[in-house]
Amino acid sequence: MIYDGQDLKLSDVNKPIIKTDHALIKILLAGICNTDFEILKGYMNFKGILGHEFVGIVEQGPQELVGKRVVGEINIPCEQCDLCIQGLHRHCRNMKVLGIKNYDGVFAEYTLLPVKNLHVVPEEIENERAVFIEPLAAAFRILEQISISNPQKVAILGDGKLGLLISKALSFSKIDHLLFGKHEEKLSLARTWTSTESSQNFRRYDRYFDVVIDATGRKSGIEQALSLVKPEGTIVLKTTIADRIDLNLSLVAVNEIKMIGSRCGPFPMAISALKEGLEVRDLIQAVFDLSDYQKAFDVARNNSLKVILKIHDK
Ligand SMILES: [Zn+2]
Ligand SMILES: [Zn+2]
Repeated sequence: MIYDGQDLKLSDVNKPIIKTDHALIKILLAGICNTDFEILKGYMNFKGILGHEFVGIVEQGPQELVGKRVVGEINIPCEQCDLCIQGLHRHCRNMKVLGIKNYDGVFAEYTLLPVKNLHVVPEEIENERAVFIEPLAAAFRILEQISISNPQKVAILGDGKLGLLISKALSFSKIDHLLFGKHEEKLSLARTWTSTESSQNFRRYDRYFDVVIDATGRKSGIEQALSLVKPEGTIVLKTTIADRIDLNLSLVAVNEIKMIGSRCGPFPMAISALKEGLEVRDLIQAVFDLSDYQKAFDVARNNSLKVILKIHDK
């Protein structure tokens, strides 16, 4: 499926040609993410094959990987710039990002990725759970960046796909939190593992939380986070949107708030949580064949839970 800067279209593309230190992966399932919609609105000026959440099978590459089910990290650094040499690979100056920046993604039959990006999926993890590893890793990134422990008050803003996954990751890590959202069906689903609150009531929690995680994907999220967070508290920004935001940053200075940007995360943490039984299939809205991509995108655009494209059966 190709995005030409205006529309998504199905077209025939050549199977990528294997390169050294790469693997050719046959895509089984791929997840539609809000970032895909931000790209359709102009984020990153991307053109090409979208999609960065997948589980697939290695068809060509190192012998020990051929036939294995894998997931892949999405950042493809140059390994040569000063930031890469300092170990900041995820912030490479010449970064390519699978299906997001200068690199074709996984809404296709095959994709090519560096071997070092790949993680083998343990047998215990079904394809429908494995396809969540990339966004779940992004959720666990928060726990890699800040330490949260239970007497602290924690809020997640946003009951979208990412907010719900972050909530699952925190619950799995036994961190109590309040999930704010707008959609009663999603909040009632979330109440099966955490407590929830309508985002309309956010003013009741003026400067109440030690940690506020903004996963709204909206401009208003950061404003709400600024009113919810305690002085000297921490805001974690998970929202990446194409729009620019006007903000009163004096609140950050006056209340001495720490703001932490948070993006891609540790695949091994996500894999081990799923292996230990973390359930995420209740976050699947629907599965569509690739040929039904238009229907899939229509459903996904409409505040749905995770929509998955089925590309190959096995
Ligand atoms: Zn994503
Ligand atoms: Zn680099």
